[in-house]
Amino acid sequence: MNHSDPQPDASGNVLCDQFDAIYFDLDGVLYRGLNEVEGAVETVKEISQRGCGVAYVTNNASRTPDEVAAHLVELGIPAKPSQVVTSSQVAVEILQKHVPVGERVFVVGGVGVEEALRDAGYVPSRDSRDCVAVVQGFGPEVSWRDLAQASYLIQGGAIWIATNLDSTFPTASGIAPGNGSLVEAVRNAVGRDPDGVGGKPDRAMMDRTMAAVPGERPLLVGDRYDTDIAGGIAAGIPTMLVLSGVTQATDVWRSNLRADYLCESVQGLVLTYREASVNDEDYVCGGARATFAAVNMCVRARGGTRMERLRAADSLKWSMVNQVGLEAFTEGQIILDLGVS
Ligand SMILES: [Mg+2]
Repeated sequence: MNHSDPQPDASGNVLCDQFDAIYFDLDGVLYRGLNEVEGAVETVKEISQRGCGVAYVTNNASRTPDEVAAHLVELGIPAKPSQVVTSSQVAVEILQKHVPVGERVFVVGGVGVEEALRDAGYVPSRDSRDCVAVVQGFGPEVSWRDLAQASYLIQGGAIWIATNLDSTFPTASGIAPGNGSLVEAVRNAVGRDPDGVGGKPDRAMMDRTMAAVPGERPLLVGDRYDTDIAGGIAAGIPTMLVLSGVTQATDVWRSNLRADYLCESVQGLVLTYREASVNDEDYVCGGARATFAAVNMCVRARGGTRMERLRAADSLKWSMVNQVGLEAFTEGQIILDLGVS
């Protein structure tokens, strides 16, 4: 199975040269669990050598920026804590609009939540007594007891901030429940939504990232439409979706959002990017051609690499949206046929 894109062309033009700052999501983009996504280390190194700013933007609230940077360095990816933005930091920024610093705040989640609260001047607590707010983030140790204590506090009037709402995230063993699933458990108990949510797609997350690693031509790279791509769109930043994490080609087809670039993985940043272009009523990309067959309500893409077929099909989809409506795709009336993968 060969999913690789073409190599850099003779002129040496590669995708990342169009940008001066790259904002990477982490889980499913640079690593899955403890393992590097193939080629991620070399790619980030090469991007940095080409003079591009690099930031790491994670909705995973369980770890501190120091721990995230240390994990990246361990994998071989150059990273400083100042390049890392976590949803815990942004959740605590939002908390400050509701609760004065110095108050006691109940922590659900890992040490990342705790440290962000302490850095801002709150008193983080693992005991719910005398707490006026709850900050809920992911942590592998989160228990039913934590969720129950949080629910009791919220029912008693406490402010409730969630670090992020990702329903799942990829691990080395498969797809696991994310913080959004645990927030949903509390929501079922308390009958209302959180008072604020920190991570992508919230604009505050991208604002903090742009302040940490400024760029005039930034690009956001992520593996999820509902957080990464939606976050980039909310902040007016171009986006690149990679298929190395939770999103599959069929999800691209059914998405109601459009990523500016589609790649198998971050390695696409240091390769030539072939755009799809219109050709009669079809779209072509490299050696691929995507055609709509009305008789069986199917877009069929053939030739080229899998990614060229997907880019051609995605461009054809978005060119058809005005005529047939987005629901024709999101609800599956028009299907995608990419041929053999
Ligand atoms: Mg991700």
